[in-house]
Amino acid sequence: MDSYKGSCHCKKVTFSFTSSNILEEVYKCNCTLCVKKSIIMKSIPKSAFILESSPELLREYIWNKKIAKHYFCKECGVYTHHVRRRDPEQISVNLMCVDDIFIPENTVINLIDGASHD
Ligand SMILES: [Zn+2]
Repeated sequence: MDSYKGSCHCKKVTFSFTSSNILEEVYKCNCTLCVKKSIIMKSIPKSAFILESSPELLREYIWNKKIAKHYFCKECGVYTHHVRRRDPEQISVNLMCVDDIFIPENTVINLIDGASHD
C-alpha cells in the first residue's frame, strides 16, 4: 500500500488515501457528467479515503438516481472525488488532483459505459 495526498486547485480541499497499484484499473466514464469533467479516476474503498479538510469546504452534486455523490471545492470549483453509484462503498478520486502523480502515455485507461446505465 502506498499513501497519497491530493487537493483541489486552490488547495482548500485536501484529502489523502492509500492504494496499491495506483495506475492500474484507472478509468474514464462516458456519462453526461464525466464527459464534461473529462478526468481520469481511480476507485478505492471508502475506508481508504480521508477527507483532511472540513466537509464545509465542499459542494455536493447529486443527480439522476441520486446514489452517486459528486464533490467539488466551493471556492475553485474543482471536482476532487465522488461516492460511486455502482458501489456506494467506493470512492472515486480525481487522479488529476493527486500530488506528484505522473500518468505515463501507455497507461491503460478503461472506459466505463456510464452513459448506458439506466
Ligand atoms: Zn479549491
